[in-house]
Amino acid sequence: MKELEREQRHFDNDENHGMTEKEVQEFIAQTKIKTVESIYFGKNWVECWYFTPLPSEFMVKCLYICDFCLFFCVHKKELVRHSRICSIRHPPGDEFYRDGNIAFFEVDGSIQRVYCENLSFVSRMFLDHKNLYNSIEAFLFYILCEVKEDGYHYVGYFSKEKVRDANASNNLSCIMVMPFCQRTGYGKILIEMSYALSMIEGKPGGPERPLSDLGHRTYVSFWTRRVVGVLLELIDSPTETISIFNIKELTGMTEDDIKYILENQKILRRDTLNCDR
Ligand code: ZN
Repeated sequence: MKELEREQRHFDNDENHGMTEKEVQEFIAQTKIKTVESIYFGKNWVECWYFTPLPSEFMVKCLYICDFCLFFCVHKKELVRHSRICSIRHPPGDEFYRDGNIAFFEVDGSIQRVYCENLSFVSRMFLDHKNLYNSIEAFLFYILCEVKEDGYHYVGYFSKEKVRDANASNNLSCIMVMPFCQRTGYGKILIEMSYALSMIEGKPGGPERPLSDLGHRTYVSFWTRRVVGVLLELIDSPTETISIFNIKELTGMTEDDIKYILENQKILRRDTLNCDR
């Protein structure tokens, strides 16, 4: 019943990601039973939150998953056997960022299909229907790992569409942090990276809409800190002017998101802010 209520809450609050009301009701009917109750992942037992459309042989009470290569199995002894022969110690892509014990890898869905499909299965266990992938190949996956002595352990990721409409500004399609790593600041690190990549591309961006309630609160908190931080920098600068253009350049955020935060925080004063640049 809890799952049904949780799904219903999402449907009540969001725009259902293009699903018709009939499709929404069918989805609720199909997903009220959780396929897998828990997973053993990187020496952590984790209770699953949502229905996951796994192949039938994996519809079991508990799944065992290698947190290096995301191999799935249904018996603990299989995972023990796998761990003895699995030589993979990091996600199958390029490591492009390292800070202390934190590392990011970029994984291309069209090149590392199996890894990305397994990643998608894991994320579906903890994310609602809005984050299902129709086409893995169309996405890049940015994998956040904790670096330990024995390798790079998966803790979360965000995805991003490779080819985006010229007018689209999405810099993040889906984001998840493993439940045993929540409240560690990893969600913020993932969002920061999505904006850092937008700034490298020279294209302001933001998350794909609609946002869940939790996503909205997370982003408002992130945007507020980012905009206020940049405003303080601009106020201290003898040469820079305060304008939405400058805030956009310094944050990588879209004009709409900046204006939303300035109004939300009651900072926007049109007599002092140059909105035309
Ligand atoms: Zn493995």
